[in-house]
Amino acid sequence: MGRLDGKVAIVTGGASGIGRQAAITFAEEGARVFIADLDEAALGGVIGEIGHNYADGITVDVTDEAAVERMVSGCVRRFGRLDIGFNNAGFGGFSPIQDYPVEEFRKVVDVCLAGTFLCIKHESRHLIEAGHGGSIINIASLNAIQPTEGFAAYCPAKAGVAMLTKVAALELGRHNIRVNAIGPGLVVTPATETMRSVPGLEQAFLDEAPLGRAGQPVDVAGLGVYLASDESSLMTGQTLYLDGGASLNKYPPLFDYFQDAAGAES
Ligand code: NAD
Repeated sequence: MGRLDGKVAIVTGGASGIGRQAAITFAEEGARVFIADLDEAALGGVIGEIGHNYADGITVDVTDEAAVERMVSGCVRRFGRLDIGFNNAGFGGFSPIQDYPVEEFRKVVDVCLAGTFLCIKHESRHLIEAGHGGSIINIASLNAIQPTEGFAAYCPAKAGVAMLTKVAALELGRHNIRVNAIGPGLVVTPATETMRSVPGLEQAFLDEAPLGRAGQPVDVAGLGVYLASDESSLMTGQTLYLDGGASLNKYPPLFDYFQDAAGAES
């Protein structure tokens, strides 16, 4: 028996990395998953891997409200219900503040924060109407509480996700809708490839993490199952930091590492 038997989940950003693994793990635990992503080809790949009885999906930009609305209605049409929202689509940027183009800053905040807001808005609308409660899980970051050089857009956007999680939990508890977030530290995904290729940087991060290892997508997916399932039925409004303890220390000085890497290349 799976821990998510009979439940239906939306997973945004489910074509790669953490979201892809969450979709696979949720399906292994018995859920049917409706996967949303910008990347149509990769989306088709993960749906095919899980199999069409348990997975379907839609190409969506989470900053487009009409598309997010179609995502929720498409999920309900395909699988008959919605129980879980795994709002994971996001990306970071990197620039010193004085050089950060405001368009790039806005894009990070738009996808990470406004995109998460739109997903909560339309998932909760459906869940309230259906009347059976549900679990919404937002993907924040260690950077919601740990400032990092070059992350002038990402850190505040993810801090916003953690606070949005609390507000949504406060408003939606009366409808038996729980809202929690996961704050991963460094996780091995395509998004962190560039960072992990800078000489010494991954080790510097691990030196600050008491458990001394990077996360794998399956670590995040496992916590996602707990938050999605009835095992966590008393928990709402929380951001759980899944970072090997890295948030207890400081983030490595990224400007130094990127400068050294650029110097070594020239
Ligand atoms: P990833 O790049 O492997 O996957 C992200 C997916 O989101 C991609 O498939 C991409 O196409 C999709 N996406 C991006 N913008 C989108 C949009 N506007 N609409 C729909 N889909 C969109 O990244 P990942 O490492 O798996 O990251 C997933 C989430 O976890 C992000 O929110 C990220 O900020 C967060 N996170 C990652 C790490 C890490 O170390 N990897 C750490 C903390 C938080």
